[in-house]
Amino acid sequence: MGLFDRVWNAAKSMAVGHAITIREMFHRPVTVRYPEEKPPFERGSRSVPVLKVNEATGLLNCVACGLCERSCPPSCIEIVQAVDAAGKKKPWPETFELDLSHCMVCNLCIEACPFDALEMADVVELSSYQVQDLIFSKDQLTELWKTSKALRVAGGERI
Ligand code: SF4
Ligand code: SF4
Repeated sequence: MGLFDRVWNAAKSMAVGHAITIREMFHRPVTVRYPEEKPPFERGSRSVPVLKVNEATGLLNCVACGLCERSCPPSCIEIVQAVDAAGKKKPWPETFELDLSHCMVCNLCIEACPFDALEMADVVELSSYQVQDLIFSKDQLTELWKTSKALRVAGGERI
């Protein structure tokens, strides 16, 4: 390539680069000033599965059937079914733990639940330097449901 061609190509690429820069100066930025500004959750967003409370009864919908536990690929759900004094199983979880450090937010637990007991919450600020802080108990998962909105991955009136 001759000298003239090189100079021409350099000038052309500078002109194109500047034209793009000037054009973008008049566009609305696609980024936001997080965390002051929070972008809306897009349809199909996922975050953390939480335990739903039946608003009529105030009890969990969960009957401790264990289907979510068995369908979780990284085994991050651990449920202990409640038993009465005689050792008879009760239809609610004594403990329900979710290890968010292993959760890959695949939604399979929610799809597996036949009792509409789990839901994705619109919570994303749960990071921690301590991995133990990412193990959520039944009460924490219930509290998260109460203090968040649902992200409906499939169907439902909300995103
Ligand atoms: S979203 Fe996926 S990885 Fe997370 S708890 Fe549910 S099944 Fe397990
Ligand atoms: S599948 Fe639903 S009802 Fe069964 S243990 Fe999991 S959350 Fe509870």
